[in-house]
Amino acid sequence: MTEDATYEHGCGSTMSNDPWATAIHEAGHAVVADILGLRPCSTTTRADHDCAGHTVIADPCIIQEWLEHDGKWREHNTILRGCILSMMAGGEAEEECLGACKGDNGEDRYQIALMFDQLPEANLKEVRMRLFTRGLVRRHREAIERVAAVLIWEDTLDGEGIHRLVMPIIDVTPN
Ligand SMILES: [Zn+2]
Repeated sequence: MTEDATYEHGCGSTMSNDPWATAIHEAGHAVVADILGLRPCSTTTRADHDCAGHTVIADPCIIQEWLEHDGKWREHNTILRGCILSMMAGGEAEEECLGACKGDNGEDRYQIALMFDQLPEANLKEVRMRLFTRGLVRRHREAIERVAAVLIWEDTLDGEGIHRLVMPIIDVTPN
């Protein structure tokens, strides 16, 4: 996949020096993208020059092609809204799981603003979408903490690894 086919999402210029907070933040992005069917490409807590972590979510056009290939169809703007929710989920996961957002979310906010610019509705919906994201994060908190715990040890997960951790564990105990 080429570089421009993805939103290579970085997490702000201020590095969070709390590894658990970084892991929760990246896990929030990755889990919400996965449950919305957006197939995150990867997530990492490996720091680079200015970010404590990255979660890579494919471009909405690429996601639309993948869905069509699977016999599903979703409007481009629906996918774009899902990408906004996924982008909001990093900070919301920190707030929900840790009680506060420890890093600078400037990069997230910038990406969210760029995506809102492509939608017919203005940023007016941002508050509602944040509330909705918070609900998703609350409902999937266990999965977020599971992904974060693996990120602490392995620092990077690909899309398949994320999906395996998000899927509920099915109880196969016979009655
Ligand atoms: Zn982020």
